[in-house]
Amino acid sequence: MHRSEIISWLRETDPSRLESLWLSADQVRRAQVGDSVHLRGIINFSNWCIRRCTYCGINADNRVLRRYLMTSNEIVECTRTFRQWGLMTAVLQSGEDQRITTGWVTGLIARIRQETDLAVTLSLGERQEEELTKWRAAGAERYLLKIESSNRELYESMQPGRRNAWLSRMEVLKTLRALDYEVGTGIMIGIPGQTYEMLADDLLFIGDLEPDMIGIGPYIPHPATSLPAAPRARTDQVPNDQVTTLKTLALTRMICPEANIPATTALLTISQHEELEMGLACGANVIMPDRTPAEYRRLYDIYPSRIPFTTERLTELQNAIHRMGRTISTDSGRSVHYLKRNRNTPAVPAGVDR
Ligand code: SAH
Repeated sequence: MHRSEIISWLRETDPSRLESLWLSADQVRRAQVGDSVHLRGIINFSNWCIRRCTYCGINADNRVLRRYLMTSNEIVECTRTFRQWGLMTAVLQSGEDQRITTGWVTGLIARIRQETDLAVTLSLGERQEEELTKWRAAGAERYLLKIESSNRELYESMQPGRRNAWLSRMEVLKTLRALDYEVGTGIMIGIPGQTYEMLADDLLFIGDLEPDMIGIGPYIPHPATSLPAAPRARTDQVPNDQVTTLKTLALTRMICPEANIPATTALLTISQHEELEMGLACGANVIMPDRTPAEYRRLYDIYPSRIPFTTERLTELQNAIHRMGRTISTDSGRSVHYLKRNRNTPAVPAGVDR
């Protein structure tokens, strides 16, 4: 897809044209990754962070936030109920902090693999190659690290006091690929200063990077951070609304047909309750319910009013998936893109209809 075509889709407002975009993305999704929806349970196990990312509510500059680190026992305990909800992957996410040691994470991965046999995805920010190597060997198969914006200047404007922050994040993505992780990256929609041109470049950049998983979510301003909401008056500013996020999601599916793409929690947060299905209808094939225990959930305060995934909501989600004629995946849901680029493993996972 050409840059100009991407830009005109991103600016499209005609409802019938948009309907055709959703439909095309949905067809590509069905043909390439099938009808099953993969459910991942996220556990945000620590909100300690050394970084100062100006978009994020748990950054080190937030001195009033109470910090927590869950114990391994608490985390493993959480994952025990995952299978009964169809959650076949545990996503372990946290702020970036050295109190989360290499050995501790290695032990945690090994326990989850042994005691629950769930797939393990890590999202712990930028970490050293040595530890990434050990965690891969311990059984973590996937890693999420969003580039947030492919525009180096825009990204670094949100990283005060850090030189080469963008390059450093890119290096980690390369290392993850070399270590044979399934690699996930992604961007935020509606960052102040993000233009339609920049967002089109983000999509082209992601197309070149060929990640196995891609997370697309709206930027949601947090009152305790220095990054404001995007200025509404500027016509070239990308808005952080639902429809722009869905357009970006749909275009991502067309550009990276075989990737695993979630309807992100941030998208669900800005959507109406009954629109839970929208992301799934526009190219997404993954949902990642937040299963962090209630006492910690509100402290993982990256942006305001994150929706709690109660058991009622999980039931509702499962019903919605079935209503759409989709199925809930019963396997670990590796990315078709990853399986294809690895010749040693079968090209098409069971359950994908070709
Ligand atoms: N420390 C890890 C995990 C961070 S939380 C890391 O940096 O990768 C995971 C994601 O939450 C981030 O990648 C970012 O895209 C998203 N996020 C953080 N603050 C946000 C905000 N204010 N609005 C929307 N998404 C946000």
